[in-house]
Amino acid sequence: MPVQIIYSGKAHPQDNDGKELIKSIIHFIQDHNLRNHIVFLEDYDINVARYLVQGVDVWLNTPRRPFEASGTSGMKAAVNGVINLSVLDGWWCEGYQQDTGWAIGSGEIYTNPEEQDSIESEALYNLLEKEVIPLYYKIDRVGLPREWIVKMKSSIKKIGATFNTHRMLIEYTEKFYLSATREGQNLSKDSALKAKNLVAWRKKLKERWPQIYLYVDEIVSEKDIYAGDKYPVRVKAHLDTLTPDDVTIQIYYGLLDIHDQITDGQVVDMKPVENIGDEYIYQTEISLPASGRYGFTARALPKHPDLIHPLHPFTPLIKTWE
Ligand SMILES: *Cc1c(COP(=O)(O)O)cnc(C)c1O
Repeated sequence: MPVQIIYSGKAHPQDNDGKELIKSIIHFIQDHNLRNHIVFLEDYDINVARYLVQGVDVWLNTPRRPFEASGTSGMKAAVNGVINLSVLDGWWCEGYQQDTGWAIGSGEIYTNPEEQDSIESEALYNLLEKEVIPLYYKIDRVGLPREWIVKMKSSIKKIGATFNTHRMLIEYTEKFYLSATREGQNLSKDSALKAKNLVAWRKKLKERWPQIYLYVDEIVSEKDIYAGDKYPVRVKAHLDTLTPDDVTIQIYYGLLDIHDQITDGQVVDMKPVENIGDEYIYQTEISLPASGRYGFTARALPKHPDLIHPLHPFTPLIKTWE
């Protein structure tokens, strides 16, 4: 069951590791006399890509998770009847289904890239040897790989219907262009009054943000807490010259995993209930639907009616409430 691998692509001019990798592949082919099995196609461009997506059987993409930005080439391959074999990263997290192709691993997160490479390469070789190549060579009496064709067809059907420029344009238009236009009109009317106010507010916020402190009150309750109970949480927020109109204080909470990391985190807004000088007491309740160990932390986000997105790179310090 012979296989031919065709490599193509370009390393970014400043990506020395990428360039070295390409060199090592070319040397490997020369040193092992593998020119009939492995080919490196130079000068990848839209024309070379066009021949590739029309001519190959499998589109192999092995990014190191989570660095694949999207992976559009896999979508182009799919509509040309090529079956994708890729790490669950970028678009393939959404595009992969059992009948549209193959997934290398199951989207695990690794802290050590060498360990990740070793495990995922093993998974890739297993898939190639046990599933991909045998399926390709499994032909019926008239010489057709029926099961391969079934997979090819459902890949064309499902991926072509979901990953296309119609959807891209609609989503860009609705999510970004239209809302950006509305926002632009809102900010520029009345001689850009709102834009001027927003700029002044952002300047104030940027100056004041480092003075914000949150003191989280860890109310240790003596009584048992049952699944389904609510747990009260208080935060003392030192807002300096800012007020609750400028910031949203939230609790981020969820069940803890074995590494004490919050999983499936939820967010709840807090309410200011008391004001002493430049300090505000915020309160809320978190619901604990399941049994287990929960963790929570507090955060402050900028708040303004004309702010397009609350995620600004200002981080408050969190201290223990003494
Ligand atoms: C599709 C395409 C790309 C993008 O490829 P990805 O695998 O999505 O990064 C780059 N260059 C050319 C010429 C292409 O046709």
